[in-house]
Amino acid sequence: MDIPILLCKEEEKKQKPADSELTFGKLFTDHMFFMYYRDEKWQDPRIIPYQSFEMDPACSVLHYSQEIFEGMKAFLHPDDSIHMFRPYENAERMNLSAERMCMPKINKDLFVNAITQLIRVDKEWVPSLPGTSLYIRPTMIASETFIGLRPSNEFYFFVILAPVGPFFKDGFNPTKAYVAAESVRAAPGGTGEAKTGGNYAATLCETNKARSLGYPMVIWLDSIERRYVEEGSGMNIMFVIDGQLYTPPLGGTILHGITRKSVIELAQKMGIIVKEERLDINTLIEKISNSSCSEAFFVGTAASITPIGKIYFKGTEYEINNNDVGEIAQKLYDELVGIQTGKIQDTFNWTYKVV
Ligand SMILES: *Cc1c(COP(=O)(O)O)cnc(C)c1O
Repeated sequence: MDIPILLCKEEEKKQKPADSELTFGKLFTDHMFFMYYRDEKWQDPRIIPYQSFEMDPACSVLHYSQEIFEGMKAFLHPDDSIHMFRPYENAERMNLSAERMCMPKINKDLFVNAITQLIRVDKEWVPSLPGTSLYIRPTMIASETFIGLRPSNEFYFFVILAPVGPFFKDGFNPTKAYVAAESVRAAPGGTGEAKTGGNYAATLCETNKARSLGYPMVIWLDSIERRYVEEGSGMNIMFVIDGQLYTPPLGGTILHGITRKSVIELAQKMGIIVKEERLDINTLIEKISNSSCSEAFFVGTAASITPIGKIYFKGTEYEINNNDVGEIAQKLYDELVGIQTGKIQDTFNWTYKVV
C-alpha cells in the first residue's frame, strides 16, 4: 500500500547535528506520519512535514489521558541498509494497549508499513555512530472535543522520529537505582501493562526524588505487599542469581517488554537457565549482600541493557558486582546490539529491513 507523501520544502529542513552531539529525545526529523479515526475507521493516512497540532482546549486527551504510545528503534547496518527491530511486536503491543484504554486497533501491516515509509523519507536522519539510532515514537490520542466521561469517538495516530544518542550519558556503565518507597506505578486490574501516558506521570514525582539523591532510575515494587520487584519506569528488570537469569513474570502490572522477551530468548540460546519468578526485595538484598546475586540490569528499547551497579533500599546503598559490568549482561548486550546493528547474523529473524 502506498501512503501519500507531502515533502517539506528544502528550506524547511532542519539542520542535522553531528552524531556525537546527539542526546535522547529532544530533536525530531523533518517528517511525520499522521492519520485520524472518525466514523469508526482510520482515515487519510499520510506522511507530512513535521508540524504542531491545533487543539481545542476541551480535546479529551488533555483531560482524561486516553493516550497510548510505542517506543522502537531503527539502526544503520554496515552495508548502509536500515533495519527496525521486531516492529510487528510493537504493532501487537500497541493494539494490546489500545484494547485496555478503549481505543481503536490499527492494522499491523499498516502500522509497520507507515513507519517503514516514513523512515525511507527521513533516512538521511539515521545516525551511524555506535550507540546511536533512530528512535521511533508511534502515538495515539483521543482527539474528540468534549469533556464528558466516556471514550472518545475520534483519535489521532501519528509517528515521529528522533535521532538519538545513548539514553544514559554514561552509556553502558552501571547505573544506580532507587527502590521506590512512597508510591507504586501499577496495581492489579490497573493499566500497568498498557503503554499509556498516565503510568509514567504517576512515576515522575518519586523518580525526581530519587534523582535528587543521585539515583537516575527507580525500581518499582508490587502495589499489594510492597515487596515484590516489578520493573523500572520504562524498562524491565533482570537479575543473575547463582548463574541463572531471573525476571519477574508478566502478570498484568508489568509491561510486556520486547527487549525482555528478546533477552530471555538470547539467554536460553546461550544455555543460561531463565526463571520468570516473583522476587522479594528483602531476599534480593540478602543475595546481593552475600554475592549470590551477581548481576542486575534493566532491559528496554531506549537503553537496551543497562547494568545496575548500586541499589538504594530503605536508607542503605548496596553494591552489585563491585559496580562493574557483569559477564552475562555484557554477553547479552553484545549479542542483542550486534543483531540490531547488523554486526552479528540475525538467526532469529528479528530485524526488519526498511531500505
Ligand atoms: C517501554 C517499556 C518497557 C520496555 O519495553 P521494550 O519493548 O523492551 O522497549 C518496560 N517497561 C515499561 C514501563 C515501558 O514503558
